[in-house]
Amino acid sequence: MSETLIRNGTIVSLDPDIGELEEGNLLIEDGEIVDIGHDVTTTASDATVIDASDHIVLPGFVDSHIHLAQTQVRGIAGDWSLMSEYFNHMLGNITGLYQPEDMYLGGLFGAFEKLYTGTTTALDWSYPNTLEHGERAVDALQDAGLRAVYTYGPPGDDAAKWWYDSDIGLPEENIRTLYDDTIRDDDRLSLALGLRGPDFCVDETARRDLELARDMDALATIHMGAAQWTSSQYNPDYQGFGVLEDMLGPDVNIAHGNHFTQDDIDHAVAEGASFSSTPEVEMQMGHGIPVTGKMLEAGGRPAWGVDVCSNVSGDMGSQMRIGLQVHRMLQNQDVLEEGEEVTDLEVTARDTLEMATIEGARALQLEDEIGTLTPGKRGDVILLDASDFMTAPSHSAVQTAVFQADTSHIDTVLVDGEIVKQDGHLQNPLVDEEFDRFVASGERLVAEAGLDL
Ligand SMILES: [Zn+2]
Repeated sequence: MSETLIRNGTIVSLDPDIGELEEGNLLIEDGEIVDIGHDVTTTASDATVIDASDHIVLPGFVDSHIHLAQTQVRGIAGDWSLMSEYFNHMLGNITGLYQPEDMYLGGLFGAFEKLYTGTTTALDWSYPNTLEHGERAVDALQDAGLRAVYTYGPPGDDAAKWWYDSDIGLPEENIRTLYDDTIRDDDRLSLALGLRGPDFCVDETARRDLELARDMDALATIHMGAAQWTSSQYNPDYQGFGVLEDMLGPDVNIAHGNHFTQDDIDHAVAEGASFSSTPEVEMQMGHGIPVTGKMLEAGGRPAWGVDVCSNVSGDMGSQMRIGLQVHRMLQNQDVLEEGEEVTDLEVTARDTLEMATIEGARALQLEDEIGTLTPGKRGDVILLDASDFMTAPSHSAVQTAVFQADTSHIDTVLVDGEIVKQDGHLQNPLVDEEFDRFVASGERLVAEAGLDL
């Protein structure tokens, strides 16, 4: 048995029954958290002991929506809109140029960025052009050691065929093969199907793809309700969930959902569906106002995600802050416009931290495994330095973690109790070994795309 003891830290468990512990200890056995408390210790002579003095100990972040394979085309999309450049250049051009090895290299370094910045689980929304593309994307997740929901979406090689009014279902045989050959037997991996939904394919295909996900006991995750043409406010042909309205459930995750009516959000939350909001990308690309306010009104909360890592940093800390503060701005503006002063902030630092952890776990149907520091869950843990000149003095561990700490303060990261980052450095030798191939992949893709940057 392998044991890891994290000692003497400020433990922010996010488990309501455990709460926060000053100078607390956390014990992991064979990858599972087994005990948290002041007197918890180990008798194993070969135990790994991590001194967490002056550190905040948190569950790893959960990125509920990201396209990791776009990591090597960073720095091209930061001035792009969704409906123009992104659809034309990314889905209509670049994704078609990906070879299986590009999927591997983008996924690998995207996963390294996740781990480096304290995200221990991500939903990787993938556009595998062939089965081999999917296999290499999964290889990358396994080689990096990230916990992940690999999302088999439509191939990225022909936007006209797979998007808009497509009547071609997701490639079932490939998906089943990939699941049977690799994902099924890997405890850190699970499968989702990346659906286009009625916004991007014909009704029959939208229903058929969701039925396939259900038949495979996989999460269905769907880009919906983003951009003006899906809008209840601006488009008289608003369809909401359309043909999926009577098929929603906890195994359905909506990415974005900016333009759904409050009634539709109420319905989705009542059915147990989850929403992933990616506030920075949504604000950039013209998706509309993030769904946060409507989710809270419906009695739910969104899970945060990064989404397009060719636009923005993969750091979930940024999404926690941006998502919270833009919601506050909108709420505060409503009060101001009523002629009142703002005297109360409804959504807190703890809320946004939970949207980056346990809400992400719920959205990915992994809440029994991750999202809080709780005995019985996996040992996915991060340590933030709360004692340097940018974070000290820390009068509230939660506020320090949300507002002051940045990625430079994340000095230790564990997945399944295994140390993947220590003293600020990723431990995986592939970071150095594959770096040149990763950069070359990005240079080739951008050159072949012929973009006028
Ligand atoms: Zn997306």
